[in-house]
Amino acid sequence: MSLGMSIRDPHFGHPVYRDMPTTIFEKMSARARETGAINLGQGYPDAQGPQDILRAAADALLERSNQYPPMAGLAELREAVAAHYARHQGLDLQPAEVIVTSGATEAIAASLLALVRPGDEVLVLAPLYDAYLPLIERAGGRARVLRLAPPEWRISREALEAVRTDRTRFLLMNNPVNPTGIALRDAELALLAEFCVAHDLIAICDEVWEHVTFDGITHRPLIGFPGMRDRTVKIGSAGKIFSVTGWKVGWMCAAPALAALLARAHQFITFTTPPNLQWAVAEGLAKPASWFAAMRQGYQASRDRLADGLRAAGYVVNSSAATWFVTIDLPASGIAMDDVTFCDRIIDEAGVAAIPISAFYPTNAVTHLVRLCFSKADGVLDQAVARLAAFRASLA
Ligand code: GLN
Repeated sequence: MSLGMSIRDPHFGHPVYRDMPTTIFEKMSARARETGAINLGQGYPDAQGPQDILRAAADALLERSNQYPPMAGLAELREAVAAHYARHQGLDLQPAEVIVTSGATEAIAASLLALVRPGDEVLVLAPLYDAYLPLIERAGGRARVLRLAPPEWRISREALEAVRTDRTRFLLMNNPVNPTGIALRDAELALLAEFCVAHDLIAICDEVWEHVTFDGITHRPLIGFPGMRDRTVKIGSAGKIFSVTGWKVGWMCAAPALAALLARAHQFITFTTPPNLQWAVAEGLAKPASWFAAMRQGYQASRDRLADGLRAAGYVVNSSAATWFVTIDLPASGIAMDDVTFCDRIIDEAGVAAIPISAFYPTNAVTHLVRLCFSKADGVLDQAVARLAAFRASLA
C-alpha cells in the first residue's frame, strides 16, 4: 500500500511548514531551561497570577460544568468582554459580537482563515510577531510588509500608500507593539483608520497589550475610529491582562457580518475553550479600574527597574510605553555584535536569555536590538542586570 506521497519526499508537507524553524520564543525558553539561564526571553510573568482569579478558575473546575461550552464562548464571558470594553474604551460592542477563542493566536488564525481569499494581500508592519506571516500564507494570502524605522517606528501615509496595491484587502496590526513597546500615537491611528476606509480594507487588530500601558497612556482601539466599527476585528487576550499566559483565553470582536464568518473558522480550529477559565476571566474583567491601574503600576516599576539597572551598567535602553519588554541598542551600547550573536553569548556566558529583534522580520531584519522581558520579580531582574553588567564589563 502506498500513501501516494512519502515522508522522505522533499515535497512532503505544506511548504509553509516544511522548512519552518521552531519559534524563537520556544527555542530560547528551551535553552534557558537546559542551561538554567534567567529567562528574559519569552514574554511571561514569573508570578503565579492573581489569587482570586486562580481561585475562581479552580472553583469553577470543581463545581461547574466541564463539558463543551457554547461554541462562541460562555454568555457570561461574552457579556463581560462587551461590558469591559464599554467601560474602559468607550466601545458599544454587543455580546453577540464577541467570540471567545483559545488565545489571541487562535483568534488571529481564525480571522485570517475566515477572511483571506487566495491571492488577497495583507498589509503588515515590521517588526511583526512571528506567527503573522505563516498564518497569512497558510490562509492563501500574501503579505505586504511595511518596514518601520527605529527608534520611533513611526507610520506615515506615504509609506502606507507605497506598499499597498490593488490586491491589498487587509491590515493586520499589533498595538501596543511587541517587540518595540510602542503605543501607536493618536495621529497614526487616525491615519490607519483613514487608510482602511479610503481603500476598503478590513483591519485585524491584535490588541493583546491593551491594558499593559505605562506613563498614563490609555489604549485607543482602532475599531473606535471613524468608519472602523464595521471593518475591524479587535483581538484581546486574558493571558496578558491577568498575567496568566498559559491559560490561552482570548477573543475576537467584530460586527455581525464579520463575526459570523469568524465563528465558522473558529468552530473547526478549537471549537471551544475550557469553561472554568472562561468563568474566571469573566469575573476578572469585572474588576474595578483601580485593579488595572495597580497592575500597570507594578509592571511600570519593573520596567524602570530593568531599564535603570541596564543603563547604570552602560547599556543604551529604549524604554517602552507598553508591553512587558524593553530593547537594548547594541551599537549605541558600544557592543560590536549582531543581535543573534549577542543573545547566543549572553545565554551561555552571562546566564540570561533574551530575544533578538531580527526574529520579528521575514527578510532584511533590523539586527542591532535585543528584547528583554521585565515581568519578573525584582530579585530576578536585579540578578539579570548584575549578570549583564559583568558581561558588558568583560567585553571592554
Ligand atoms: N507573545 C510572547 C512573546 O512575545 C510569546 C508567545 C509564544 O511564545 N507563543 O514573548
